[in-house]
Amino acid sequence: MSETQNFDVLIVGGGMVGLTLAVATASAGLSVCVVDRQDPRDALDAGFDGRVSAIAAGSARLFQSIGVWQAMETDAQPILDIRVSDGDAPWFLHYDHTDLGDEPFGHIVENRNIRAALHARAGDFDGLDHRAPASIDQVTRTNHGVDAVLEDGAHVSARVLIAADGRSSSVREEAGIRLVRRPYRQTAIVCTIAHERPHEGVAQERFLTAGPFAILPMTGNRSSLVWTERTDLTPAMLALDDAAFLDEVAWRFTDYLGALSLAGPRWSYPLELSWAVRATDRRLVLIGDAAHAIHPIAGQGLNLGLRDVAALAEILVDAHRLGLDIGSPTTLARYPRWRRFDVASMSIVTDALNYLFANDITPLKLARGVGLNLVDRMPAMKRVFMRHAMGLIGDLPRLIRGEPL
Ligand SMILES: Cc1cc2nc3c(=O)[nH]c(=O)nc-3n(C[C@H](O)[C@H](O)[C@H](O)COP(=O)(O)OP(=O)(O)OC[C@H]3O[C@@H](n4cnc5c(N)ncnc54)[C@H](O)[C@@H]3O)c2cc1C
Repeated sequence: MSETQNFDVLIVGGGMVGLTLAVATASAGLSVCVVDRQDPRDALDAGFDGRVSAIAAGSARLFQSIGVWQAMETDAQPILDIRVSDGDAPWFLHYDHTDLGDEPFGHIVENRNIRAALHARAGDFDGLDHRAPASIDQVTRTNHGVDAVLEDGAHVSARVLIAADGRSSSVREEAGIRLVRRPYRQTAIVCTIAHERPHEGVAQERFLTAGPFAILPMTGNRSSLVWTERTDLTPAMLALDDAAFLDEVAWRFTDYLGALSLAGPRWSYPLELSWAVRATDRRLVLIGDAAHAIHPIAGQGLNLGLRDVAALAEILVDAHRLGLDIGSPTTLARYPRWRRFDVASMSIVTDALNYLFANDITPLKLARGVGLNLVDRMPAMKRVFMRHAMGLIGDLPRLIRGEPL
């Protein structure tokens, strides 16, 4: 039997959420082992996932605090304006970042660049053991600690186990934590579009009958499309040749950015709302999509996961500094109490928005028209919505406030 390596924290899943927690806790002196089944060469390849993320201002502060922002900054396009419209209706909601100050609402960053920045920063810490590709064969959680055997036979022990292994989390499943699921019968078609005219940092969200059609500004004259389509129609859209696909894009996009061309492959992601009924168990914490996956209508899923990270890192590091057991029930009980409201409210709001806008029923169309118009005329309410989208409302962890851990 191989010798057991001891860590404070064992994280299963080194995606954007898991690796951020690894870097945050390692930078505060905890020893961390991250296990991810994905080969990093694939995860960092341009062909891995065509997605971008809208990184809210609070999440950018977290990345700055743990030293990963610098590596993704050159690829980060500031979002200066957000415009929301309802199909062809004249209603228009306009958010301007200068209404709140100088700070942009957030930045659009390609996921592969976020991953690259995290992978590079993870290499800076002696106390961070990043194992990929690797997976866990067997894990035992007792009142005293966590013991795991990896597929290559290595033995690892830790004070606490973190499930950051995404929507289909096997750690969550093995722990017997029930998942509440609501498939949307919608699929997000994602691609990058090059355009003739500059976007000026404006993000557009057009609500069409099938769902939201988001145009997110990227660096250069490029935008990322997140086009929500009925799942039964998606295969036909994806099978179109480039010219026909671009025609479908063009009438939804309109001509405000001039001539359009495809700047990469198309991707598709089936959408669903899912919510683990418990975020903790004996010596176990769920974070990111392993705990909750929401509709991308507001570009908030990763931001929610990053707020999980900021709260959990603070809880673990504070307990460690006080010499307490970081995996004890008392320590971990703070986590669901802290995160419950943010997760529930974001899940409910995104679900309700999707229902309200992906609908052709006349009273709903009228109600949302009046709603958009009203909000646009109420500066105080608009400012609350803007701060919410920036991830700057609620009981904010130190890292989201831009303070060190
Ligand atoms: C179309 C679309 C657009 C989106 N846009 C935005 C946006 O603009 N802004 C935003 O905030 N959010 C957005 N999101 C949501 C965001 O992408 C997710 O919330 C985020 O990627 C979740 O990250 P994660 O690390 O929790 O999970 P994942 O990205 O799923 O990572 C899980 C990791 O765990 C590993 N893993 C899985 N199982 C195992 C195992 N058994 N053993 C070891 N490793 C394992 C995987 O290899 C992977 O690396 C969008 C989502 C979609 C679908």
